[in-house]
Amino acid sequence: MAHAEAAHILQEKFGYDHFRTGQDQAIERVLADENTLVVMPTGGGKSLCYQIPALMLPGLTVVVSPLIALMKDQVDALNDNGIPATFINSSIDFREIDERLRQAAAGEVKLLYVAPERFESEQFVDELNDIKISLLAIDEAHCISQWGHDFRPSYLSLAAVPERLASHPAVIALTATATPRVAQDIRQRLHIPDDGMVNTGFARDNLSFQVVRGQDEDRYLAEYLKLNQDQSGIIYVSTRKEVERLYTFLSRKKLPVTRYHAGMNDAERAQNQEDFLFDRSPIMIATNAFGMGIDKSNVRFVIHAQVPKDLESYYQEAGRAGRDGLPSEAILLFKPADVQLQHFFIEQSDADTAHKHLQYQKLQTMVQYANTDDCLQQFILRYFGQNDTSPCGRCSNCLDQREAVDVTTDAQKVLSCVVRMHERFGKSLVAQVLAGSNVQRIREMRLTELSTYGLMRPQSQKEIATFIDFLTAGGFLAARGGQYPTLSVTPAGVAVLKGEETVHRKTAVRAHQSVSTDD
Ligand code: ADP
Ligand code: ZN
Repeated sequence: MAHAEAAHILQEKFGYDHFRTGQDQAIERVLADENTLVVMPTGGGKSLCYQIPALMLPGLTVVVSPLIALMKDQVDALNDNGIPATFINSSIDFREIDERLRQAAAGEVKLLYVAPERFESEQFVDELNDIKISLLAIDEAHCISQWGHDFRPSYLSLAAVPERLASHPAVIALTATATPRVAQDIRQRLHIPDDGMVNTGFARDNLSFQVVRGQDEDRYLAEYLKLNQDQSGIIYVSTRKEVERLYTFLSRKKLPVTRYHAGMNDAERAQNQEDFLFDRSPIMIATNAFGMGIDKSNVRFVIHAQVPKDLESYYQEAGRAGRDGLPSEAILLFKPADVQLQHFFIEQSDADTAHKHLQYQKLQTMVQYANTDDCLQQFILRYFGQNDTSPCGRCSNCLDQREAVDVTTDAQKVLSCVVRMHERFGKSLVAQVLAGSNVQRIREMRLTELSTYGLMRPQSQKEIATFIDFLTAGGFLAARGGQYPTLSVTPAGVAVLKGEETVHRKTAVRAHQSVSTDD
């Protein structure tokens, strides 16, 4: 039986006694020549899902991976386990490529790692056609979807590959990050049947998510790092300049930090990455250029000092903590100015209008994440289409002891203001009206004449805006549209307006939150 042999290889070649959830199921499908989509959290063990079949199938397994910089390491690790594998990418000259293809054709290697760009070349596909290929494994498969957060045009050419190859290999696509829409897109493009998905869910039981608002970033970080001495972690920020600034600031505090961003030269980046991996500098300050495929098991915290562009990126980056399964923290330091920075990035990008619109929507979800009172882990899982979860009991919201206050009256004020403004305006204007702002625009539009004008004085515009984010996160308001989303009242909001539902909130402004990691 194929399954028994797979279990044997698991022990013999990889030294593990049991399959993790989903692995055996995925392997069985692949061995039965069925196209499969594997969705597992980071560290879940996706690689074995194609590496074990690769050793059992008669032909070659081609592994498509966007992580060119890591191919060599991945292949070295396999070779160390006595698994014959090689790779082809732009760092290899054409004579060596020919040699490696020859090895593959002769069956001297069982796995061939290639970059997706290769498949844009007709010639390369022709060359592969001289080889019997049993399986095509597509790693980071969400890159094929324009709905995903990391779309790569080079991935589109992969859709046609199985047909272009004479041996019509089975396809196994793997990802740790796919909304239902992205998963559907992957399945469609790669001809994976609806029931061909092995989905172990996204939950990471050892991560505790925290949102920290209204705190001075520098002070928080300095304090946190002092309290967590000797721990390894990553601090993500949005710009190279901010990496440099924080690096200087934290170095002066004698903290063991290093840094990484795309503006540094290759040698320096490689050096810093290594310093981090080997814990010579256990704290990495980086932009999102850092981390793809980094397999450092003992990362104890990932702090986003600035809000990232969407929840998929956030979960992927935060998920680099705790790959060893030990308790770890994922912290978001939230301030509205960083949302403006992301607006700027979207405006600057050369994406078309529809795509910008999508990016604004995704950013909006990120803002809701930062303002929800619900379990943070549940919020994330819901976003990825997992609705059947219970509160994690570990995140900063689950642990928030403060009593929830009835804020129904304030909610009604906001909701009725939105209704009176005919659901045609966005957050800042609604907040201005409720705060009784006297700016020219409000006067010109005669919004001062609304019965809700100034209704929430003396609360500041900023406080009201945060409250609006809270109501949006809670599903009482919907924010639709691009850069300046328009607010409308949802059915749940209508119920509040009618007095059929109440709204509770754990105080309007977050109090100081503990930065201790003690359990
Ligand atoms: P992913 O690609 O899903 O992030 P990996 O394939 O890199 O995860 O696996 C993560 C870690 O788990 C690796 O160190 C791997 O050796 C280990 N691992 C995978 N499968 C098993 C298993 N069945 N039992 C124990 N450890 C496993
Ligand atoms: Zn929770």
